[in-house]
Amino acid sequence: MASQTGAIVQQSLQQLLSTPSFLPHLQGVQRTQAFTSLGAILSTPNKIHKSFLRIALDKGDVVRIPAYRIQHNDTLGPYKGGIRFHETVNEEEVTNLAALMTLKNALHEVPFGGGKGGVAINPREYSVRELYQICKKYVQYFSDVLGPDKDIPAPDVGSGQREMDWMMAEYKSIHPGQPYLGSFTGKSVVNGGSLGRREATGKGVYFTLNYLLSGFLKENSAELADNSGGFAATALEHSGKSLRLAVQGFGNVGSVAALEAYNCKDLDNKVVAVSDRNKTLYNPDGLDIPTLIAYVADNRGDLPVSQDELAAVGINAEILEREAILYLELDVLVLAALEDQIRKDNVDRINARIVVEGANAPVTGEADQILSEQSVIIIPDILANAGGVIVSYFEWLQGRETQFYTEEEISRRLHSKMKATMGAVLPLYFQGNTTLRRQCYTHAVSKLATSLYLQGKLY
Ligand code: GLU
Repeated sequence: MASQTGAIVQQSLQQLLSTPSFLPHLQGVQRTQAFTSLGAILSTPNKIHKSFLRIALDKGDVVRIPAYRIQHNDTLGPYKGGIRFHETVNEEEVTNLAALMTLKNALHEVPFGGGKGGVAINPREYSVRELYQICKKYVQYFSDVLGPDKDIPAPDVGSGQREMDWMMAEYKSIHPGQPYLGSFTGKSVVNGGSLGRREATGKGVYFTLNYLLSGFLKENSAELADNSGGFAATALEHSGKSLRLAVQGFGNVGSVAALEAYNCKDLDNKVVAVSDRNKTLYNPDGLDIPTLIAYVADNRGDLPVSQDELAAVGINAEILEREAILYLELDVLVLAALEDQIRKDNVDRINARIVVEGANAPVTGEADQILSEQSVIIIPDILANAGGVIVSYFEWLQGRETQFYTEEEISRRLHSKMKATMGAVLPLYFQGNTTLRRQCYTHAVSKLATSLYLQGKLY
């Protein structure tokens, strides 16, 4: 587990160890030993599977592509987590992302463990035929350890419905006669996917912000006013105010989160900037998000890069450097690109008062600490971006029952799950002594610890 995740898990364990009402039957030496073994269990993955996928490229060359499936922890259910297709994929990164999945699922009471996969390629550099071969080979190489009750992959950065459809089909042909609908989630609807799964992560990301500043705040404004320092003050200051919001990353998560903000009636917010791997587009009066979404759909996922391209679709915006989005004068910054975007070396240039982690680990541990000391609210990844895996769980359930829910039903269940989690973590957070990330980790670790204790694994 990367040191950052590991360090917060250790802090959570310390906090729980010194809370006498937590697992009260564990006393004295037995208690210390149990917490030491918990630390060991949570800081190491159960299994690391890695291989080189051997693929013949269209031109005839044969290449060997590094691929991983890391099964971090299955205490709460089968391993679950996406497969990332990105050129920076490596074992340490995938291991850290697998650990985040364990915590994310535990936090939201999704009955899965945590796992993650990765393929070290830039998918833009491969033809459709080559990508199809890569997906098939991935399933062939790891097919023994995957399955609806063992380990269930899903999309992540660089993969989507198309890849899940291919992979499920390969799984089905390797395991004839066995249930296969639950082997992969994030499939297309016609292949047993769930309505609302594609949009689920982005919708969930925006929902956490919306619920924090409208629903939760309305229900708890009196208590919050009593704790009026720190994070509570930041929240109160931003409720009912007209918000300037920016979204870094305009892929499946960022574009949907931006659209949710654009359409939202509960909060008065304007999406003043969006960015992708090339540029930032900025307009202080707000950007026309539906037009930009239509544009990227026709342009391989890229936003317009010149004033001519913007003019052709009638969008008025300034074009800034890719990183400029991070440093704008904002109320809310949604990070929906990759990890390590806000670090010790650039944290002092951040002006937003609320940061939402749509991506996994976009704020480093040091930057998180510094922003929190300034009472910046950070809605952490395992809370904010869990919509994807929550709806993956609904997809898996629907596949088992071979009964399918409507989009409204999915949306209702998604919101109710995220609301329940927020209801559990926000009151303590607003009492002020901890960051929301720590609060979420402690909540997740307490579930895992209790389950391990009851399964007899801690003594
Ligand atoms: N890749 C997504 C995540 O990081 C979704 C995982 C899933 O649906 O299993 O949460």
